[in-house]
Amino acid sequence: MNAQPAASLFIDGHPVEGEGAALPVLYPYTGEEIASLREASGDQVAQACQIAASAQPAWAVLAPVERGRVLIRAAAIIRERNEELSRLETLDTGKPIQETLVADWESGAQALEFFGGLAASITGQMIPLGRDWAYTRREPLGVCAGIGAWNYPSQIACWKAAPALVMGNAMVYKPSEETPLGALKLAEILLEAGLPEGVYNVVQGRGQVGAALTTDPNVAKVSLTGSVPTGRRVYTAAAEGMRHVTMELGGKSPLIVFDDANLEDAVSAAMLANFYSSGQICSNGTRVFLQEGIREAFLDRLAERVRNVRMGDPLDPETQHGPIVSPAQAEKIRAAIAAGEAEGAQLLCGGPGEGAFIPPTVFTDASDEMTITRDEIFGPVMTTLAFYDEQEVVCRANATGYGLAAGVFTQDLTRAHRVVGRLEAGTCWINTYNLTPVEMPFGGVKQSGLGRENSAAAIEHYSQLKSVYVGMGGVDAPY
Ligand code: NDP
Repeated sequence: MNAQPAASLFIDGHPVEGEGAALPVLYPYTGEEIASLREASGDQVAQACQIAASAQPAWAVLAPVERGRVLIRAAAIIRERNEELSRLETLDTGKPIQETLVADWESGAQALEFFGGLAASITGQMIPLGRDWAYTRREPLGVCAGIGAWNYPSQIACWKAAPALVMGNAMVYKPSEETPLGALKLAEILLEAGLPEGVYNVVQGRGQVGAALTTDPNVAKVSLTGSVPTGRRVYTAAAEGMRHVTMELGGKSPLIVFDDANLEDAVSAAMLANFYSSGQICSNGTRVFLQEGIREAFLDRLAERVRNVRMGDPLDPETQHGPIVSPAQAEKIRAAIAAGEAEGAQLLCGGPGEGAFIPPTVFTDASDEMTITRDEIFGPVMTTLAFYDEQEVVCRANATGYGLAAGVFTQDLTRAHRVVGRLEAGTCWINTYNLTPVEMPFGGVKQSGLGRENSAAAIEHYSQLKSVYVGMGGVDAPY
């Protein structure tokens, strides 16, 4: 299989070969090398940021509706090519084609469409001050650096590009070294849709390329999707230059199932919240709290349904569960499973699996102190925990440094809203899980991050306010 792009980087509207170390791209299902890329050198990172800074002013002075039109055109191109792009996404990530066809580029297209449509209605404020008045202008930041994780490479690239570009910023984007291919496609598509050269650039590389971007003098903002430790490093480095940040980081989110929940829906949601994309989703509800009255029935039904999950070739449309993105990540997940067993949790189903595959795995008899309950695993591992009452479960759900997401299953609407009001999480779901429509803000609290992606709220994180005082009369001076 060959997924070799024209070149490793995309700078100033053109494919450019990287001058840094080799970056082989492996298909997670077979381990086969599907493309051979090179990292950007330090000079190339600086050059990409310089070019973005030069291209940005002309893009920013276009009428917003014109910028929006480019994004809407890009969304249409993505939809036309969804099949080819989804196949590439599957080769890059190993995720089943039945997922990538509906979830990855499609949600990227929705972001481009949403922000493209919003473009013309982003306005400032008029502030009456008696004789005088003031107004605000929402202005771009300049060059935004985007740094992505490997689980939803194209979605993450689009979620960052769409609000950044619509506000008149330029972007230099670094995808994860594991999944470098989708962002290059986005760069081509944006150019084809009419984006001026140099406004969206892609550099490749490992962490040090991301670190170089974060401190480049031309970069005004860094938007990272990644783990909490990387987030801390990037936030610290960005602070040095007083750069704006958006941090979309990890989680260990609670999914609380009360006795009166619809059993079948709660099981469906728990499976989606732990096994979709082989569990490699930041907002996953990996701590499933089960109230005592529903626990047994829930676990019986869960085990029955997990047994029927079809694992295998990601390009087979019937496959529901694909390989893990890399051998290193699979080893980390296996170590977490081994720790769970060593600490005394029971395996209801699943286990370490073989090679690139880790089957959907469920632990029972876990306690809040175990590492499988505390640490983000980022794989298909669900930890179930028993609870008795609402007060207890809210305290236990909040007893974590993370705060990305949370879910509640109950038929009691008053309780649902009461509990959600007390959960320390940036994104919550009632009687569903992991739906992230572009209309709804997405992001975390506590260690899980800062800022919001999606919705009009994202605009605030890719722009700054300028206040303008307008004097309408003479100047009163005491001198
Ligand atoms: P990492 O934190 O390892 O990496 C994220 C990105 O940062 C990668 O592109 C990485 O490059 C880069 N990077 C690494 N070190 C630095 C540095 N010092 N300066 C700048 N950039 C750096 O995350 P993963 O890719 O392993 O992704 C999994 C994590 O992402 C999980 O914790 C998950 O929860 C989180 N995530 C959060 C989401 C959210 O929206 N909240 C969504 C998806 C994932 P490279 O990979 O090349 O080393």
